[in-house]
Amino acid sequence: MNLVLLGAPGAGKGTQAKHIVEEFGIPQISTGDILRCAVSRGTPLGLEAKKYMDAGDLVPDEVVIGLVKDRLGAGDTEGGFILDGFPRTIVQAEELDAALAEMGKKIDSALSVDVDPQVIIDRLTARRTCRDCGRISNISEGEVCSVCGGELYQRDDDNEATVRNRLNVYDAQTAPLIDYYEDAGILHRVNGDRDIIAVWQDVLDLLKNL
Ligand code: AMP
Repeated sequence: MNLVLLGAPGAGKGTQAKHIVEEFGIPQISTGDILRCAVSRGTPLGLEAKKYMDAGDLVPDEVVIGLVKDRLGAGDTEGGFILDGFPRTIVQAEELDAALAEMGKKIDSALSVDVDPQVIIDRLTARRTCRDCGRISNISEGEVCSVCGGELYQRDDDNEATVRNRLNVYDAQTAPLIDYYEDAGILHRVNGDRDIIAVWQDVLDLLKNL
């Protein structure tokens, strides 16, 4: 099962991806996570990417496409994968299709998690992430991860001004992918404006019927 997860930043793609990983045993490939890891290690890629990420802009297509192609070459993707946060532009989607075709593969389903923009702003500015296990939580949880005891922190790009720009970038550059996958006949939509378990139930029903 080769999946693409679509949705605005903060729609809950990462959280749903983690449920899919547990249920189906396929890896999550999050370009945001790969880039944040490069930033925290201070690699040349990280130094290049950080300026775009801090502003809420997209990292250039050629950089991200290269990362994903490398990752898709790893053995753990043989049984399938979930792309989370990629593609984010039509060019990325076309390059992805071409790279997969060369490997004799294709995207089976694109799942869009739909959430109202104001809900997203409220969610993201309150979002906290565990430095150790990566679990997503909320400011109301305090400063310590209730699962692993790691430090909860606010991502640099989760402040309100950057969140607004990320939503504008989503509308302009990423939302057209809804039509791209609809035209390909593989788009599925879920209402992400509900609690995580309700959304997950819909996602699971959908995936089991693919
Ligand atoms: P995310 O964690 O998916 O919200 O991504 C955080 C940031 O990483 C984005 O705001 C972009 O700056 C960058 N990024 C992640 N994925 C991509 C992508 N597919 N194309 C371009 N930039 C990306």
